[in-house]
Amino acid sequence: MDHIEQKILSIIDEHAEELKKLASQIYHNPERGFAEHETAKAAADFLRKYGMEPREGLALTGVKADINQSDGPSVALIGELDGIGCPAHPDAAPTGISHACGHEAQMIAIMGAALALNDPEIKAALGGRAVFFGVPAEENLSADIKAELAKEGIVFNGGKSELIRRGEFDDVDISITSHVHMVSNCSSDLLLGNVASTGFVSKSVHMKGKAAHAAAAPHDGVNALNAATLGFNAMAMIRETFQEKDAIRVHGQIRDDGFPCQTIPDHVHVDLMVRAKTLEAINQTSAKVDRAYRGAASAIGADCDIVTTQGYLPVIMRKADQALVEAAEVLKEQRPETTIENITDDMINFASTDAGDLTHIMPVLNFTFGGAEGALHSKDYRITDEYKLHIMPAKMMAITAYRLLKDGAAEAKAILDGFHPTMTKDEYLAYAKALH
Ligand SMILES: [Zn+2]
Repeated sequence: MDHIEQKILSIIDEHAEELKKLASQIYHNPERGFAEHETAKAAADFLRKYGMEPREGLALTGVKADINQSDGPSVALIGELDGIGCPAHPDAAPTGISHACGHEAQMIAIMGAALALNDPEIKAALGGRAVFFGVPAEENLSADIKAELAKEGIVFNGGKSELIRRGEFDDVDISITSHVHMVSNCSSDLLLGNVASTGFVSKSVHMKGKAAHAAAAPHDGVNALNAATLGFNAMAMIRETFQEKDAIRVHGQIRDDGFPCQTIPDHVHVDLMVRAKTLEAINQTSAKVDRAYRGAASAIGADCDIVTTQGYLPVIMRKADQALVEAAEVLKEQRPETTIENITDDMINFASTDAGDLTHIMPVLNFTFGGAEGALHSKDYRITDEYKLHIMPAKMMAITAYRLLKDGAAEAKAILDGFHPTMTKDEYLAYAKALH
């Protein structure tokens, strides 16, 4: 490691207690997507304390600060602000939101990196701009919350998607993202590279029938619940047409519309997600699911409205870039017990993330880290190692950004030269808007 890297590591180590305290503050005050006001404020206060001037309230709660306004490439270090609905988790807030997806660790990663990279000597060694970006709402929100958010001007599902729409990624060339391990069998401290994931579309199916007394005159009714139930069964029957290579998942639930038991329900809302590894497979499966529910409605004599909206795009797999590999080696040099793994072609994350949207328009370098156990989003998720969860990722973020931007940003420029986006921003917006 060079002198600058040594300095980055010691600055983060010197502030480890403060970073852990901030991690605990954010972890114990989890907030749902697009409502992360306290988390955003804590991040903005921290950035101000260390001499940066964050912009706040981006897509309601996003926080963005940058350093080093040079002409070179611009690298964004991304942290997600939101918690996940998991009321059974012992550390859930009264709202039912918890940090059972470890997003507080991402926020600490970018805070720690910011305070190190903003050191005058370190900053002077960067041949480009570093952006510290706390983004709202990675976790998909329920249809009723989305409807409320639409009134506040939120058009897209994910915070990153909405920020792309609002032009907040126009000044970013490369993003670095991180997450607690998402591939469940990874036991190393660090997993380098961006694993392919599914993307999805959301569906809201409104089955419309005719109410009647369920015992006295069921023959006068058209049972919307029966139509919905048949829709679920029809969707299950088409599963045999799904190919494993496409990593398709279809799932959903019936909203509680509050009908008494003795009434033939005249309407039922079903919320669905259709996931797959490619846009083509998402679109094909989406059409099959529509057919299943429309066919079910027709069989029962009900009417069926289906609204399909943009979810997240699949993550395009990206093997570990040199900057990530070298940054991990620097961490291992400091702590030889650090274990490192690279992603492999056969890895897949069946869950979806709005970081997928970014991978279609810019290079996204990603690593995941240990320090927690138990299934993500479940009541069993636990923090097991504060260093690995809250300090190591800050070092990885800072040193990866430094490696990209040192020597006149040579590596960042090489990555950009070799990158061919699958969509321009305009094409991305056209795709997403077509589903709204
Ligand atoms: Zn997550």
